[in-house]
Amino acid sequence: MSFMLKDRVVVVTGGSSGIGLETVRLLLQEQAKVAWCGRNEERLLASEDAMRTAFPDGQFMTRVCDVLNADDVATFAEAVKTQLGNTDCLINNAGQGRVSGFDNTSDDDWMAETGLKLFGVIRPVRAFMNQLLASGMGSVTNVNSLLAKQPEPHMMATSAARAALLNFTHSLAHEYAPKGVRVNSILLGMVESGQWRRRYLDRSDTDASWEQWTGAIANKRGIPMGRLGRPEEPARALVFLASPLASYTTGSTLDVSGGFAKQI
Ligand code: NDP
Repeated sequence: MSFMLKDRVVVVTGGSSGIGLETVRLLLQEQAKVAWCGRNEERLLASEDAMRTAFPDGQFMTRVCDVLNADDVATFAEAVKTQLGNTDCLINNAGQGRVSGFDNTSDDDWMAETGLKLFGVIRPVRAFMNQLLASGMGSVTNVNSLLAKQPEPHMMATSAARAALLNFTHSLAHEYAPKGVRVNSILLGMVESGQWRRRYLDRSDTDASWEQWTGAIANKRGIPMGRLGRPEEPARALVFLASPLASYTTGSTLDVSGGFAKQI
């Protein structure tokens, strides 16, 4: 079944690695026109080269853009419209988590974490909303975490900020549903990413394979599927929610956590 995104313009923030890059890849497979951004130019160009090799006829663009910088984001939105056309779907993926409890989270850390989780979405939504309203099938899809509903004390600020993002996403969905823009989220558990690869290289048990090592983490954390997610798995959920296949779904969350959610 097709995601019905051929020739549609989709923007992915934080598309230069991990989940964002797998989302870009799937969108290009679907023949969407794709724009993505990141802060590090080298990583962004490497992702562009990889996509050019994989999709020589693909229509896409990249731009260095920090989603926390309103001017960067506004310029990115204008460039997408000029180069690819009016944006139909915005996928807010850019970000990272913070490991700390109350003791080792300063006021500045709290401000930075809540700022990233909220303004990392607010700024792109503001910059792209006129295009999404003009689309006729506009959608905003946010990468969020199960931490929003199931806080972890060792990620205190991230958990609280994730809850705020989920709350904001719900209100946004209600405000824009009558105007034809759907707003949804995915809730992640633990997904293989650069962070986990780096920890694997530093592991004490050097005999353990990647599968054994990540499987042990999953089992220790009580993930029923016994493994971490792969970036292409949240990517499929993101593309589904962004696409017209989810045309009657807004204000909703899709769990991509391998059964990690404790709540019903
Ligand atoms: P990666 O580190 O592989 O990818 C993050 C991407 O976001 C990179 O392209 C990075 O590029 C970009 N980025 C980060 N900050 C900004 C910024 N301020 N402006 C623009 N781009 C930015 O991580 P993952 O793929 O694992 O994570 C993707 C999302 O999923 C993140 O929001 C993360 O918090 C969330 N998440 C991940 C989980 C996991 O287990 N992997 C669990 C829960 C949530 P650059 O650094 O060059 O800017």
